Amino acid sequence: MTGATPPRTRFTVLTLFPEIVRAYTAEGVIGRAVRRGLVAVEPLDLRPFGEGRYQALDDVPFGGGAGMVMKPEPLARAIEAAGPASWRVVLSASGRPFRQADAERFAELEHVVLLCGRYEGVDARVADRYMDDAVSIGDYVLSGGELAALVVLDATLRLVPGVLGNAESLREESYQAGGLEHPHFTRPATWRGDAVPEVLLSGHHGRVAAWRRQEARRRTAALRPDLLAGDPGPDTVPGSRPGRSEES
Ligand code: SAM
Repeated sequence: MTGATPPRTRFTVLTLFPEIVRAYTAEGVIGRAVRRGLVAVEPLDLRPFGEGRYQALDDVPFGGGAGMVMKPEPLARAIEAAGPASWRVVLSASGRPFRQADAERFAELEHVVLLCGRYEGVDARVADRYMDDAVSIGDYVLSGGELAALVVLDATLRLVPGVLGNAESLREESYQAGGLEHPHFTRPATWRGDAVPEVLLSGHHGRVAAWRRQEARRRTAALRPDLLAGDPGPDTVPGSRPGRSEES
């Protein structure tokens, strides 16, 4: 921590498993940014907010059925303990899809609170009363919200200025401009008989950029044609926004 200026973006993660959050956010790009004080990630353990002798956080569902539901009062007290937030998000398999555009928006916020569900999820009244948003990271069901929370905070925090060493790399990434990114190659130029595309060895920045645009478009059309729906043209693929440097 530098201690000089407050972090640009702070996440509080409400979870029954704070160690999962701590372990992930101590490593790599995010760990470095946290240590430099650029961003902050604070797991808040839900257990102490539990009720009774066993600090229970779950109870049986009204109406019957399998599984348990996270009780509203302990969650409410934890959310209040997290303090004022710019945006509160519950991770939920039935939330709206989390997208790159959300990461871009969250990266502008001062304090984001993420609520990780367990069991069958959280009492719906908590979401209604406290949450601004419910997001899903994909069409599948996880056993808890921690992985989803880490996906959201990782995708967000790497966009905070200064977190990535090379801001250039952000400009061409998948989804940054609506499509998938072009393929990458590194040395050796021929590996186990497979050669890299000739154009990448040409040193001709214009041709390289054109090839990358073409490959990005081809890949997007093959793998994610939904991203090209309503596609106004080649400017929708990464690295090809008007005014972008051909060298990048
Ligand atoms: N009963 C829920 C349903 O059918 O939608 C699934 C609950 S899941 C076992 C437990 C918790 O994992 C959820 O409350 C949520 O926080 C998290 N979770 C599961 N799948 C998720 C997803 N695709 N995206 C975000 N969070 C998810």
